Amino acid sequence: MLVVQKFGGTSVGSVERIREVARRCIATQKAGNDVVVIVSAMSGETNRLLGLAKQVNDDPPPEYERELDVIAATGEQVTVGLVSLAIQKAGGQAQSFLGSQVRIVTDSAFTRARIQSIDGQKIHDALKQGKIAVVAGFQGTDADGNITTLGRGGSDTSGVAIAAALKADVCEIYTDVDGVYTSDPNVVPSARKIDRISYEEMLELASLGAKVLQIRSVEFGMKYGVKIHVRSSFNNNEGTWVVPEEKQMESVLVSGVAADKNEAKVTLIGVPDKPGTAAKIFQPLSGASIVVDMIIQNISEAGRTDLTFTVPRADLKRTVELIRRALPDMAEQGIKTDDNIAKVSVVGVGMRSHAGVALRTFEILAEEGINILMISTSEIKISVVVEAKYAELAVRVLHDGFGLGKAPA
Ligand code: ADP
Ligand code: ASP
Ligand code: MG
Repeated sequence: MLVVQKFGGTSVGSVERIREVARRCIATQKAGNDVVVIVSAMSGETNRLLGLAKQVNDDPPPEYERELDVIAATGEQVTVGLVSLAIQKAGGQAQSFLGSQVRIVTDSAFTRARIQSIDGQKIHDALKQGKIAVVAGFQGTDADGNITTLGRGGSDTSGVAIAAALKADVCEIYTDVDGVYTSDPNVVPSARKIDRISYEEMLELASLGAKVLQIRSVEFGMKYGVKIHVRSSFNNNEGTWVVPEEKQMESVLVSGVAADKNEAKVTLIGVPDKPGTAAKIFQPLSGASIVVDMIIQNISEAGRTDLTFTVPRADLKRTVELIRRALPDMAEQGIKTDDNIAKVSVVGVGMRSHAGVALRTFEILAEEGINILMISTSEIKISVVVEAKYAELAVRVLHDGFGLGKAPA
């Protein structure tokens, strides 16, 4: 078998953890497999590097985001070298690769680049020589050779994309929890591990704030049918398999609850209610790769409409600038922003065939006196925006209200 193993920040967070990773890779190889390892930066390192950049320049213009990637990508450069050395020391053979060395080609959207192609040849060559290939996660290069990074949590996407490119038999995502849970186990103590979850549900959970897998990694998995096994690097327990939807999954109404505190709300008051306005507003945002999430429009007075939407919190300032430029006639007070919000979502493929999940969600929140600021729904999820201070409470009451919690011991 060809096994891809991706290790996150905590799993390579110390010299001892790195030795542990080396032992696991060698054991997997000794069991008769070809092994490709993708590693993140040591835990805290990416934050430290980006923090340094911020100290030097807290608001670089877009054309200088390139430099952020030059800085952030070094975290993974260190770990591939260390893991490779640790494998050698433990009796194996390894070779490290940076994103550019295995030609992980991305677009040029610095700090959030998307993978376009991967050339697996060098990895295959290393495997043929009996080596474990150790590849830096999170990074690539664009067509001009600039270093790019794939967005926070991007090593998951490196792992799954490389597994897809190499047609690996499995992509194991090693992390600091035992798998994908019904909610973040570090926030909801009663959360249960899910044994099998559909790509669709995982996609929703990931995009709604469950950072255990980066959303792009799930998209790759789904598109190329990569078998993803999320599991702990601290034990040998079976984790969670992300798989195509299975019939019996529908019997579960809600599979998971997630919260996302990384969004901000923008309200444009009294924009002209005529064809082309929304396009005029969202075109520059899209051009700047700003992902607009929930959008609500309400007629406010004749010929005018209020438009509320959410964007990643980090893009709020830029969003406001772009809108000022797109709507130069808009009054200063016509643009209201709020970054003190959280999006809380319930997800489950079972919702497709059951009514009443939205109502139950609203009732559970009402019982706790939590006010809902925005609502959006899709076939398999219901999201509400609430004040940030209610995020954890909302997640807990929804989780337990939909019966996801484990029975008290
Ligand atoms: P890594 O560094 O290994 O990539 P991350 O910190 O990115 O790990 O992701 C693992 C974390 O995701 C867990 O520690 C947990 O707090 C969080 N998490 C959020 N939602 C979930 C969920 N539904 N199931 C499991 N973990 C979750
Ligand atoms: N090191 C990067 C980050 O912290 C990528 C990753 O860990 O997946 O976001
Ligand atoms: Mg991660």
